[in-house]
Amino acid sequence: MNTQVAIIGAGPSGLLLGQLLHNAGIKTVILERQTPEYVLGRIRAGILENGTVELLREAGVSRRMDAEGLIHHGVEFLFANQRIPVPLSELTGGKTVMVYGQTEVTRDLMEARQACGAQTIYGVEQVELHDLKNDKPFVTFVKNGETCRLECDFVAGCDGFHGVSRQSIPRDILREYESIWPFGWLGLLADTPPVNHELIYAHHERGFVLCSQRSLTRSRYYLQVPLSDKVEQWSDERFWGELKRRLPDELSQKLVTGHSLEKSIAPLRSYVVEPMQYGRMFLVGDAAHIVPPTGAKGLNLAVSDVNYLWRILRQYYRHGREDLLSHYSQLALNRVWKGERFSWFMTHLLHDFQDKSAFDRKMQEVDRQYYLGSRAGLTTIAENYVGLPYETVE
Ligand SMILES: Cc1cc2nc3c(=O)[nH]c(=O)nc-3n(C[C@H](O)[C@H](O)[C@H](O)COP(=O)(O)OP(=O)(O)OC[C@H]3O[C@@H](n4cnc5c(N)ncnc54)[C@H](O)[C@@H]3O)c2cc1C
Repeated sequence: MNTQVAIIGAGPSGLLLGQLLHNAGIKTVILERQTPEYVLGRIRAGILENGTVELLREAGVSRRMDAEGLIHHGVEFLFANQRIPVPLSELTGGKTVMVYGQTEVTRDLMEARQACGAQTIYGVEQVELHDLKNDKPFVTFVKNGETCRLECDFVAGCDGFHGVSRQSIPRDILREYESIWPFGWLGLLADTPPVNHELIYAHHERGFVLCSQRSLTRSRYYLQVPLSDKVEQWSDERFWGELKRRLPDELSQKLVTGHSLEKSIAPLRSYVVEPMQYGRMFLVGDAAHIVPPTGAKGLNLAVSDVNYLWRILRQYYRHGREDLLSHYSQLALNRVWKGERFSWFMTHLLHDFQDKSAFDRKMQEVDRQYYLGSRAGLTTIAENYVGLPYETVE
């Protein structure tokens, strides 16, 4: 079997890269460990930056997103029960974010790939990458008990944090940067109308709260919880009770509760690996970096990597631009680090840290006063939240 670009992983980054390359006449095969149903069952991100929306449009997969996605012109912060609006579009020259779930993005991409006849092989095992430093790398994998070989020009490692791609790079070449946060997020998804038309990021002495949403009838709420908590300890009743306790009366009285469709606890991690390429293999998305979800950047950074990689590969195949291949890692990392910084900043600003010194608590308080009390501070938050511009690939 052979192709031009072998893509490992059919998450949003692998599928979007596959679609953009296919549209440019470049052949791809995607290898995915799970079944399509499993991939679609994962409840994850829901806020799309301006640049993500534009790239999905460019890929030709935006019909449902444009019809059903909700455009948000602002977000709200809440400190000491005081509501502080952040008018995103007013502060960024008209930019907005789109509320449209990662599950829906993935579904649209899967359908587009199926419609165009490009190949995705689900349920593969024992994926191994070979000869990445040569002009003709190849991938081996097991499907239905049979070992298969896929020859290619390039490998795109879109296989998430626990994938095989990053682990195929020799340890002495990689530099890892990591910070583990001392709490987790307990998330609950319910078919109830959101408590507010915009997202609310709330600080409370009992812990952080995010009131998010997936549509006008589907809400996603998160509570900061200790890392030792187990999801079984959180009945729906306990979750709703705690959420109400952390919201001001005007919101908790409006909150519509209901049966949870999904409930899970996610630990928070900041992580980046450098470089993001090794020979003819490129790392994309969560395979190379993880952010705490506080800045809504995880999916958006994965899309940002795709934006650079597909443009570089298109230039390579169309115009023989071999020189651009070595630019990928730095281009991607420039933007990744800015996303990491914003996610780190938002996590610091909004959470309750049990072990913070009195001095650090004061710093957190003054940061809040400055960033949320001045137009300059609010503009900094707004322009990062809607997404910083991409660099040009040339
Ligand atoms: C629980 C959770 C909640 C999240 N919530 C948010 C949020 O609220 N906001 C936000 O912005 N981001 C969130 N994220 C982050 C966001 O979902 C990710 O950044 C995004 O999914 C990255 O896309 P990806 O395609 O790079 O990786 P993934 O979505 O992880 O896709 C990787 C794919 O590779 C496959 N794979 C793995 N190993 C192999 C292998 N060896 N062979 C073949 N296939 C393999 C996996 O099955 C998977 O389908 C969350 C992530 C998690 C885990």
